[in-house]
Amino acid sequence: MELKKTQEKSIFLNPATNEVEELEIEIRFDPLTGKRSRILVKPLPFPKNPELPDFSKEWCPFCDGRVDSIGARDVRVADGQLIRRGEAILMANISPYAEVSLVIRVTRDHYIPVNEFETDHFLNGFMLALEYIKATEFDYATITMNYLKPAGSSISHPHIQVMLSKTLFDYQGRLIKGAESYFAKHSRCFWDDYWDEFEDSRVYDGGWRFITPFAPKGFEHVQGYMVKGVHELDEDDMRELSESIINVLRAYTDMGFNSFNFGIFGPARKREDLPVVFDIVARTPMDRYYQNDTFAIAKLYDESYTNRKPEETAKEIKRYF
Ligand SMILES: [Zn+2]
Repeated sequence: MELKKTQEKSIFLNPATNEVEELEIEIRFDPLTGKRSRILVKPLPFPKNPELPDFSKEWCPFCDGRVDSIGARDVRVADGQLIRRGEAILMANISPYAEVSLVIRVTRDHYIPVNEFETDHFLNGFMLALEYIKATEFDYATITMNYLKPAGSSISHPHIQVMLSKTLFDYQGRLIKGAESYFAKHSRCFWDDYWDEFEDSRVYDGGWRFITPFAPKGFEHVQGYMVKGVHELDEDDMRELSESIINVLRAYTDMGFNSFNFGIFGPARKREDLPVVFDIVARTPMDRYYQNDTFAIAKLYDESYTNRKPEETAKEIKRYF
């Protein structure tokens, strides 16, 4: 497997030292899709004591006492009911981006610091999602989470989304194409080869395997995969995934992050070329005047970037597993 990268150097005069400083920009090409990612190894200007809103003052449709009366109902599978498991509640999403669009509240608490999520929060949410997905006949399934405003969430209350669409999201189409052509050429699953060849990117080896992708899609990008179909995922698989998310979130907290996105995407039925893929990235920390990390090169020119080499991220994050 070829890992393609190129470098550029940028220089500037630092008037404080009167020295010309040099910074290296590494441009990496994702070995599966060709998508580029720029790595500028330079610490982010993090807020030392982020100023968070008073979460208790936020109006919220997912809090107990309100969710029963205003939580939108799914009519396809849930038959107009709110479906519960532990603290998790499955509802219809009133801002749908796909034919089936659900929202699942995962905690009773309206706000939880990222290092205080518990395995059961995610596990119960994922099990409700799987129960629903298994009652449908879509070829692929997507489960996502956006936590806090820097990650694009409109409501702070922890929740995940389930999306089932006949038309894939743009990047998912390219991911599948890459996986199919890699398998056609090598008769091997891309992710298994990546795992075998790049020891520096390995984070955890269990039922799920976790790596740090060569061309990250964002800060501290960690990717997991399992060669199964979404319909075949069971409670043990989801417990291991939930525990792994908790581990990553503990690491993110220690690194100064308090906001993140994750996504689970996979085929309904097991395929040799395409596993269920999990991705998680940290977002710029929530703060009163937080900095958005989706600036022009990302938003308009579809270029990913990060501030640390993934091999360094792997070294750091595997201590939490
Ligand atoms: Zn709430």
